[in-house]
Order: sequence, then C-alpha cells, then structure tokens
Amino acid sequence: MIGAGAAGLSLASALVDPQADRGPVPRVLMATAPPGPTRSPDRTWCYWEAGEGPYDGLLAGSWNRLRVYSRDGAEIDRSLGSLRYKMLRSRTFEDTLSTRLRTLGVDVRGMTVESATDAGNHAVVRSRDSSGASSLLRSGLVFDSRPLSTLPAARTTLLQHFRGWFVRTASPAFDPGAAILMDFRLPQPPRGLAFGYVLPMSPYEALVEYTEFSPRPLHEEAYENALRHYCGSVLSLPDYTVREREQGVIPMTDGHFPRRHGHRVFPIGAAGGATRPSTGYTFAAIQRQSHLIAEAVRAGRSPGRVPPPHRFRARAMDAVLLRALDTGRVKGADFFAHLFASLPPERVLRFLDGATSPWEDFGMGLRTPVVPMLRSLLELPLLPRSVPASAPERP
Ligand SMILES: Cc1cc2nc3c(=O)[nH]c(=O)nc-3n(C[C@H](O)[C@H](O)[C@H](O)COP(=O)(O)OP(=O)(O)OC[C@H]3O[C@@H](n4cnc5c(N)ncnc54)[C@H](O)[C@@H]3O)c2cc1C
Repeated sequence: MIGAGAAGLSLASALVDPQADRGPVPRVLMATAPPGPTRSPDRTWCYWEAGEGPYDGLLAGSWNRLRVYSRDGAEIDRSLGSLRYKMLRSRTFEDTLSTRLRTLGVDVRGMTVESATDAGNHAVVRSRDSSGASSLLRSGLVFDSRPLSTLPAARTTLLQHFRGWFVRTASPAFDPGAAILMDFRLPQPPRGLAFGYVLPMSPYEALVEYTEFSPRPLHEEAYENALRHYCGSVLSLPDYTVREREQGVIPMTDGHFPRRHGHRVFPIGAAGGATRPSTGYTFAAIQRQSHLIAEAVRAGRSPGRVPPPHRFRARAMDAVLLRALDTGRVKGADFFAHLFASLPPERVLRFLDGATSPWEDFGMGLRTPVVPMLRSLLELPLLPRSVPASAPERP
C-alpha cells in the first residue's frame, strides 16, 4: 500500500478487517511518507451518510441541516432527513487508523516510494527511508495513492481551490445546528464560481472557507482578502481570531484516470479517479471503492475488475456541467442555488453520490438551464482532449 492518506488507510483497514467474513486476510505493508515534501498536509474531509458510520467516534462535527445562500441573499435552509453531513479531520483519522492497523499486524513503515512497477509475477517497489537508504520490495499487488504527476487529458479541467480559517469568536456567532454548504453572497470570478463554506463546531468556533471553481488558483494574499471580506462583511463575525489555516486544490476534470499501471499496480483514491468531477467530493467514493477492492482481493479476484469509483452516467453528466460552467453558459452560483432551492437536499446529495435512478437524474436535468446544458452536451464529442498545462496563480 503506497500512501497513508484517506485511500491507503481505508483500503488497508478493509483488507485486514477481522469482522469481514471474506476469505483469507492478506499480509499488508503500508508505506507512509516521512515528514517532508511528499507528506500530504493536514485537511478536513466532509461526507454524508445515513445514520451511524464507522468513523463517528472520530468526527469533529456533524449536522443534519444545510444552508445555501443565493447571490441576492435568499436563505435556503433544509433538513437532510435521514442523512448527516459529517466532518473528519485527517490528522485524527490518520493517527487512529495507523494505530489500529499496527495492532492488526499491518507493517506501517516510513518510506518515500520512488517507483512501483510490474516485474513478471510480482510488482517491485523502490523507496528510500528518512536516512536516504534505498530499498526494493516485492509484492503480489500494489495499491498506489501517490498523486499523479500530470492530470489526464481532458476536454475541461477546472480547479476547486480554497483556503479555510479555523476561527474563534469572542461572543456566540455560529449556529452549530446547520452547516453553510454554499454561500454565494460574494463577488463571482470572471469564469466559474465562488462561495463561502462554514462548518460550525460550536457557537464560538467554525471552519470558514473561501472556495472557487475556476481555471487558476489564487495567490495567498487574495484568499486572505476574500476570507477577511467574507468573515467581516458577509458573516459580520464579532471580534474573531484565526487559530489554524488549511488550503487545497482539487482538480475537477472530465479526463479518464488510469485504472491500473500494469497487471499488479493499481492507482487508488484521488489518483484512481475517486474525485467526483462536478464537486470535488472524494472521501465517500474512497470508502465504497476500498470495500469493493478488499472484497475482490480476499475472494482471490483481480482488483482490475472492480467498477470505477463513479459510474459512466455520473461522469457524463459531470462532463456536461463542467463544460457549461467553464464556457460561462451556466452561471454556477445561480445553478447550484436553484438546485438546492427546488429539490430536496437528500436527493441532491444522493445524486452527488451517484445513487439516484435514471428517472431521478432526468428530473434533475429538467431543473437545470436546459438549452445551455444541451448545447454543451452536443458539442462534447467534437472537442479534443488535451493535457492541462499547470495553471499559474491568479492575483
Ligand atoms: C485541503 C483538502 C480538503 C478536502 N476536503 C474534502 C472533503 O471535505 N470531502 C471530500 O470528499 N474530499 C475532500 N478533499 C478531496 C480528497 O478527499 C482528499 O484529497 C483525500 O485526501 C484524497 O485521498 P487520497 O488517499 O487519494 O490522497 P491523500 O489523502 O493525499 O493520500 C496520499 C498519501 O500518499 C502519501 N504520499 C505521497 N507521495 C508519496 C511517496 N512518494 N511515498 C510514500 N507516500 C507518499 C501522502 O503523504 C499521503 O499520505 C479534500 C482535499 C484537500 C486537498
């Protein structure tokens, strides 16, 4: 297993799960990046599920109401019914799962992997430990969650880029009963969309983020200015301090991610196409994928036969939406606000999980601006796929 992030830890846990009655437990070695450039920075994952879930004991917060604010300030406040929106901090997840895996016999080793390749009836992994000493390991199967060095060729590649502040206020300022999923009361970029996102953990504490879906990330100062504006002029937070920051860029692409690198090396997680192109949500798909792969491996089947993390229909609809957003035919802020205003949020979230029926998807399509979406759909087959150049930052 290469990489001890969301995908590596989730798959290793599913592979050695003592509760699962699925055939022999494989021996697992997990390569975890030592502190340095290859170690992923800490982050916060949100996902939704019905009822209790396996990580409930680790959550930093959870909500069964979501709010969306349209550009003109209208509030859409909805209960999630049987679903809960859950917030998990990566450090808690990684510490807890690494400890649990060690007790289950997984060899968790600090090493930087340099390559993983097929070599006849096994795969070979070359790596270095923190002292720089190199080693060579053989394994029957390798699951690789290192980020890809280049994004796949695509018709449309947007970036979801954001910066968040963990803030604390001097007096009560947040409603811990509801998370603000998208707040469009912000200046919109020339291409794409921008919104605020608020995860309140108490009346005094929240993670407040500024997010854009657009072609280029911003300079650090631009995120800081946008967050100052959002916290001060939109949320009117009283006297607050910023206790921590997090930042990220998630590619939103209609490119095809490789399903395998040879016969025995399989990309997983974001590198294996688990990111939903239209939203950037990845964590829930990683969980589904991990269980399917573990089931296949423990039953002696090839992980290459496991279906991709997102179904063809979902990927096709996302390709149309990405194109419509990128060309500016569809105004993202109005599109998402209208979707949440006109449909039960439970259905929107199930749609984002790819769990809606074709009929429900059709109904959802009718809630979108039909002409620009149809135009985007019809032109997609004519557009070439190209490898995106790495995007310079925008002031
Ligand atoms: C800041 C941020 C917030 C996000 N929030 C959400 C969210 O709320 N909900 C959601 O669904 N998705 C979210 N995502 C998207 C996605 O869920 C995350 O990117 C998630 O971490 C992907 O899991 P992964 O295992 O594929 O990658 P990672 O979690 O990044 O794991 C990859 C691992 O590989 C290790 N590694 C890299 N190179 C090497 C090497 N050479 N040798 C050994 N190890 C190596 C890294 O250190 C890391 O531990 C977010 C992404 C970011 C960046």
